[in-house]
Amino acid sequence: MAEGPLVHHYANRLRKVLKGKEVRVEFGIRKLKRFENSLEGLRVQDVQAHGKQFRIYFPDNRVLLVHLMMWGSWRTYGKGNAWDKPRERARLILRTRTHEVVAFSTPIVRLLTKAELERDPKWGNLGPDPLRSDFSLKTFFRLLEDQGTREIGEVLLDQQVVSGIGNILRVEILFQSRVHPRRSVESLSEDEKHEILRWIFALAKRWMKNIGKKVDWISIYRKSGKRCPRCETSIEFSRQAGRITYACPSCQRLSENP
Ligand SMILES: [Zn+2]
Repeated sequence: MAEGPLVHHYANRLRKVLKGKEVRVEFGIRKLKRFENSLEGLRVQDVQAHGKQFRIYFPDNRVLLVHLMMWGSWRTYGKGNAWDKPRERARLILRTRTHEVVAFSTPIVRLLTKAELERDPKWGNLGPDPLRSDFSLKTFFRLLEDQGTREIGEVLLDQQVVSGIGNILRVEILFQSRVHPRRSVESLSEDEKHEILRWIFALAKRWMKNIGKKVDWISIYRKSGKRCPRCETSIEFSRQAGRITYACPSCQRLSENP
């Protein structure tokens, strides 16, 4: 499951292999095949993560957008080495002189100009990403305050408010902030909003540092029925924004003044 920290982690690895390199691009998606020649011989300008998206930039103003959703994965192979996944699942292959970088099973591969991407109602217009250096506090609070009566547990998953947060992060951010996922945004105090932002940064960075090590930062995700590590109340779960969310009914406040 690719939440922001994993996407940034993989984007950093892809950047090392691809940035500045001349690539041959092959698509495993029929409708994109006709663009292969137009990319021939171009050098990759940069590879960036934005929220849960990978963006591979070319010098002619085009961007390859990749979103792994729940099923996709990246692999990097030394040239000539055998692949450990079936060739027919390759959706995008980038070949340099030394490596083959492959996106397998990913449902979303788009080739767009930068302007088209910015205007795209689904994939453009992303909210600030806490793992990017261009994160804007001002924009974050403005977008958050625009959400009014929407529940904060739903808003944290909205990529056009803040990008990169998936189900695990939203559950843990709200637990650490002691805010119940069912609270409306307009009911949050200034302190609570700042606390949520503090934990967005803290947990996204902690996850990224922790990749490949034992997970030591998950408190209540998928722990319904277990005791809250803070107050020992039983953790509850419910459905919100199409996903299962978890909360401690005792120490995650349902109102500003309990
Ligand atoms: Zn508790």
